[in-house]
Amino acid sequence: EQEFAYCNRIITQFEAVIDHPNATGDDDYYTGVDLGTACIVLAVLDRTGKPVAGAYQYANVVRDGMVVDYIGAIDIVRKLKEKLEAQLHTELIHAAAALPPGTNELDSGAIKNVVQAAGFELDNLLDEPTAANQILRIKDGAIVDIGGGTTGIAVLKNGTVTKVADEPTGGTHLSLVIAGAYRKTFDEAELYKRDAANHQELLPVVKPVIEKVASIITQHIAGEKVDEIYLVGGTCCLTGIEGVIEQKLHIKTVKPQNPMFATPLGIATSI
Ligand code: ATP
Repeated sequence: EQEFAYCNRIITQFEAVIDHPNATGDDDYYTGVDLGTACIVLAVLDRTGKPVAGAYQYANVVRDGMVVDYIGAIDIVRKLKEKLEAQLHTELIHAAAALPPGTNELDSGAIKNVVQAAGFELDNLLDEPTAANQILRIKDGAIVDIGGGTTGIAVLKNGTVTKVADEPTGGTHLSLVIAGAYRKTFDEAELYKRDAANHQELLPVVKPVIEKVASIITQHIAGEKVDEIYLVGGTCCLTGIEGVIEQKLHIKTVKPQNPMFATPLGIATSI
């Protein structure tokens, strides 16, 4: 899609530098820290906005946008930071982070403290859909972020987020359904789901959960003029998810390449 040209280029560059850093000799790197319910992602960009390194780890330190394991979260961010510093042979100082829609002041303090306690200077803290839109560059429509624990819905008008909502349905619910249907443990179901080779087979199994997400989207965009839905978040990696949502909503639904990295890269771009 032409509209994702910039976003897909930066995501492709980012995927290439995960585990294969590409230090540009620039000592002034910026790190985007995305603390999610399922996954913590660090994306490092150089001053020109080009991805140079990245790392992520699945973790259960955040629930519904709230840091529930504070020490665990600091530990993971610090270890990922150290790993990237070793790869790039430099210290990473400047970071930005994002807050899920509906996060209150107390939680935003926790996210800020985690990033700082891990050794970063926090230069920017923005909301997740605004972060994602740094690279999506959408003017009008809705950004729907289907993560691990929640689905965030943001309506945009003329490039600005005008309405947000967050509902507790996400990839975790897909994994629970898969675990039940295949008699797998939750962790086995998670791994099975993340393998794109299984997506075609899994789509009918998880379709009711995706339709539930679609009905949540319908509720939150009611009365708004939304002509296009832009999907981000790890769950949108599922092949065919956009088709199920489009069919339910009758609204054109698109996603960038690897929607899981849109928000972390947008965060890093925001500095
Ligand atoms: P939240 O937004 O709820 O705080 P998060 O930011 O941790 O969560 P993401 O990292 O955007 O969420 O997405 C994590 C979810 O994406 C998990 O449920 C994971 O199983 C799912 N996921 C990751 N990769 C894939 C894949 N290739 N196919 C299907 N699902 C995937």
